Amino acid sequence: MSFLHDFLNFIFPPHCSICKKYLEADEKIVCNECFNGIPVIVPPFCARCGKPTGGENVCNDCIKNPHQFTRLIALSEYGDVARDFVLLFKNRQKLSLGKRLASLMAVLIKQDEFIFSADVIIPVPIHRVVRRQRGFNQSEILATEISKITGIPMINDTLVQVKRTQPQKSFSGKDLDREVRKEKRTLNVKDAFTVKNSEAVKNKRIIVVDDVCTTGATLDECSRELYKAGAEDVYAVVIAKV
Ligand SMILES: [Zn+2]
Ligand SMILES: [Zn+2]
Repeated sequence: MSFLHDFLNFIFPPHCSICKKYLEADEKIVCNECFNGIPVIVPPFCARCGKPTGGENVCNDCIKNPHQFTRLIALSEYGDVARDFVLLFKNRQKLSLGKRLASLMAVLIKQDEFIFSADVIIPVPIHRVVRRQRGFNQSEILATEISKITGIPMINDTLVQVKRTQPQKSFSGKDLDREVRKEKRTLNVKDAFTVKNSEAVKNKRIIVVDDVCTTGATLDECSRELYKAGAEDVYAVVIAKV
């Protein structure tokens, strides 16, 4: 890049944000070894929520509480490694890391004929006040890159968040019962989203993009709104599934 950039790299050699090892010239933010260490989900996984299963086509959770979206694909399970990546990308504005993660998500989409034939990509929106504070919407960064790689157009101003919500992770306390947690998360995002322009989604097969799917409450709520506006089918793609 610039002389100053080279000089600073010489004085303060960049190190991997995960393992702290010095980075090679072709590595950015995270070393290749750490990046390749993301535990990618491999079959068998649930045909609905993407979670690894013992071989069943649809997991018990999805049989008991079916999701609104037809299918979800997740790059990784939300363990320690995926959490480090998501937090790095989201909270420290390591946006280029988001692009790298998005390129892996795009590969998953391309491998899935059904989802790859979708009409549009829509990022899960955040409230405009949160966006102003944070400066970016992490889902939009993922969706933009996925759209570029897959050629599926992204629409970004149609699904909007109209109600301010608590961060879903604030309902993850271990003292809370699993069902109570799920209920609180569902209630938190209830009526939080709306479709501004139904024409843009009418009769469309849509991929909704988010960073993490925990109970699926946010993605279910977005899907419900998209169906209400006339969407034909809704799928979801995320970095990590809890
Ligand atoms: Zn590393
Ligand atoms: Zn499932």
